[in-house]
Amino acid sequence: MKEIILIKTGEIALKGLNKSSFEDVLVKNTKWRLHSLGRFSFSKAQSTIYCEPQSEEIDLDEACRRVSHVFGIAAFSRARVAAKDFADICDQTLDFLGEELALSSTFKVEAKRADKSFPMKSPEICRELGARILARYPHLRVDVEQPEVLVMVEIREAAAYIHGRQQPGAGGIPVGTSGKAAILISGGIDSPVAGYMMAKRGLSLCGVHFASPPYTSERAKQKVIALMEKMAEYCGRMQLFVVPFTQIQEAIRDKCPEELFTIIMRRFMMRIASQVAQRQDCGALITGESVGQVASQTVKAIACTDAVAQLPVFRPVIGMDKREIIVIANQIDTFETSILPYEDCCTVFTPKHPRTRPRLDLVEAAEQTLETDKLIAEAIAGMELVEIKR
Ligand code: ATP
Ligand code: MG
Repeated sequence: MKEIILIKTGEIALKGLNKSSFEDVLVKNTKWRLHSLGRFSFSKAQSTIYCEPQSEEIDLDEACRRVSHVFGIAAFSRARVAAKDFADICDQTLDFLGEELALSSTFKVEAKRADKSFPMKSPEICRELGARILARYPHLRVDVEQPEVLVMVEIREAAAYIHGRQQPGAGGIPVGTSGKAAILISGGIDSPVAGYMMAKRGLSLCGVHFASPPYTSERAKQKVIALMEKMAEYCGRMQLFVVPFTQIQEAIRDKCPEELFTIIMRRFMMRIASQVAQRQDCGALITGESVGQVASQTVKAIACTDAVAQLPVFRPVIGMDKREIIVIANQIDTFETSILPYEDCCTVFTPKHPRTRPRLDLVEAAEQTLETDKLIAEAIAGMELVEIKR
């Protein structure tokens, strides 16, 4: 009993992109997500990608779950393969969808005949197969408007495929087709969501995390790794750069006015992330900032941090409420990890009264007391690379 996954790419997403290279990246990403389950072969025809397991033992439920997280897929179906022979199509349909039909009260058959050499036309396939289904399950009724079970028969070049309603895919465009960006990831709720949202627009990611041991613990770092492992379900292969930040934070604490501590610290994050990102061929930075959420996320504060960024900074959750961000965090299963109570370097040495409307000239003057280039060079030299596993 052969089953395959039929993957439909969103036609809208193809606008302005080279269709074939777009599909090649999509296939590569899907392969990466599936390869630990066993061998699959992939082929393309008529805006469908055929994803065929090469052994009966492969867990297709799990394969479908993984496929549902691959960006660039508009919809997909798990389908039964039948010979291009009407009797076999009927047998396979009753076997594959029988249980679902038995438990429902209405159905409808839809047929698509891409292979015009098949002797029956689509309306005839629908009529005859519908009659066979009714003969087997006399309690059923045909409902062409809102059927509970939709029986789809696709007659294509290689075979006939039978499936139920298509399942919605993750949407977006394939990771990698828009280039690469560095996500500043904190262990909080917002940054994993921000990374997910930009990966959906085709960016592949690397992570930059600032850690301040002993003020922040090994467990806080492990939490960030755990978050990125969850993100990898959608974002694919990633590397994480953990930057030692203690020395910089201590220097700012010792030499700069307390109320400017956070803004100066964030400017260091931007400078370092810019350098790491450029070395990794990234074209942009991503943060999980949202206007007004905390003192460092006012319009003035964001202007001060942007002033030192050497790449465009994408902030996909900038206009979202925490509640809206949490909906996505739950959907991508990062929320429970994000709320584990480990410290972040942003909560170390936080001023009692941070400036919410910092003046750039005063911030720059305060920074004159620091050996900025040396501090940055040392932090980058001490960076640790973590390969994110799925
Ligand atoms: P999050 O939920 O993502 O932690 P937040 O609401 O706690 O966000 P902040 O702590 O002010 O906000 O951080 C704003 C953004 O700065 C984060 O979304 C993230 O992109 C970046 N950031 C904060 N702390 C770190 C860190 N330790 N390492 C890397 N990036 C960080
Ligand atoms: Mg945070």
